[in-house]
Amino acid sequence: MTNIPENNNAFLKNIEYKNILDAMTESIWIGDENERTVYANPNFCRIMEYSLEEMIGKESYVFWDEESTKTVKKNNSLRKQGENSKYEWVLRSKSWVLVPVLLSWTPLWNGWTAGIMTDLREIQAVKDESQRLQELNQVKDEFISLVWHELRTPMTGIRGYLTMIRDGDAGDISEETQHFLDIVIDESKRLIDMINDMLDIAKLESGKMDFSDENISPAEISRMVVEGLSFLAKQRGLTLICECMPEVEDVVIFADAAKLRQVLINLLGNALKFTHAGWTVTLRLSLQGGAILFEAIDTGIGIPPEHLSSIFEKFKQVDNYLQKSVNGTGLGLYICKKILAHFDSDLRVKSIEGKGSTFYFSIATCTDI
Ligand code: ADP
Repeated sequence: MTNIPENNNAFLKNIEYKNILDAMTESIWIGDENERTVYANPNFCRIMEYSLEEMIGKESYVFWDEESTKTVKKNNSLRKQGENSKYEWVLRSKSWVLVPVLLSWTPLWNGWTAGIMTDLREIQAVKDESQRLQELNQVKDEFISLVWHELRTPMTGIRGYLTMIRDGDAGDISEETQHFLDIVIDESKRLIDMINDMLDIAKLESGKMDFSDENISPAEISRMVVEGLSFLAKQRGLTLICECMPEVEDVVIFADAAKLRQVLINLLGNALKFTHAGWTVTLRLSLQGGAILFEAIDTGIGIPPEHLSSIFEKFKQVDNYLQKSVNGTGLGLYICKKILAHFDSDLRVKSIEGKGSTFYFSIATCTDI
């Protein structure tokens, strides 16, 4: 415990929260009406390289560099009138080390002043470290992106040649070989899909995804998507329909058609994956206020309530009995959400386990309605 000179004991004993001031990581200085030090907490003494005994009685001007002293003097009158003030100034320690600080002056009840100082060197160090981490992160992202790119080219080639072999382009193959090749081709497709998803994520997360927004017809795009997926739906014994409310027909939105298609294909693809044969999947478009509401509605297995928010996270899948039999990476919904954020939209879901799910989002129209 520092020895406090006798004449200051009364004041220091009166500081109810002295222990708090002593423990603070900020630097605290208290001066009387003549700018003479009556108290300095251990942190301020440490920065200034003075003991408390050396500090007591010293005028505050001793602690500042020349420029700061001028400003401190100039602002004294304001403080004396009871006004708070906050500045970036430079302290000068006993051994003339300059310390930039953020200083907050608070006038006290008896003409005294409290100065609370944050050492900006520490903040600068945190900023530098954060900048360094951001740069490292960017290097890592670029490296991963490059690896995915390098993987995609040979994988696409491998898949192409395997497909040719399976289709008999290199001569007849047995049924068993064909069966094995079907499996390998399926797996390579999964791998390529995953690589494409990872590349998309890298671009979306780094803000480098290209969007070609233009005026497009949501009704037209939706019908095209449904038509494109109808073969898959048929294969799975499902009915896929596009339900476009009449008031949507002439509406235009400003968006990237390919990206909107990607979102719709993902949502409908999921709906088809998680719905049993014989049921229906619907893409419904309606007008809600000044926006088009897109709803991908299925009558499938649904999602347990505890998973409703986590499925939008990367690699999150619900551990259900269908999951193992359907392909998936757990990246699709995350990508959809990121793409929709670009259109100022958000992807949401409502679902009842065993009854089905509806994934929905809306995009503002650019048509006067
Ligand atoms: P993936 O379908 O590739 O696994 P997604 O991110 O698109 O990845 O979906 C994440 C998970 O959310 C799915 O694996 C599934 O568990 C669940 N899910 C998504 N859509 C539906 C749906 N329509 N019905 C039931 N579960 C779904």
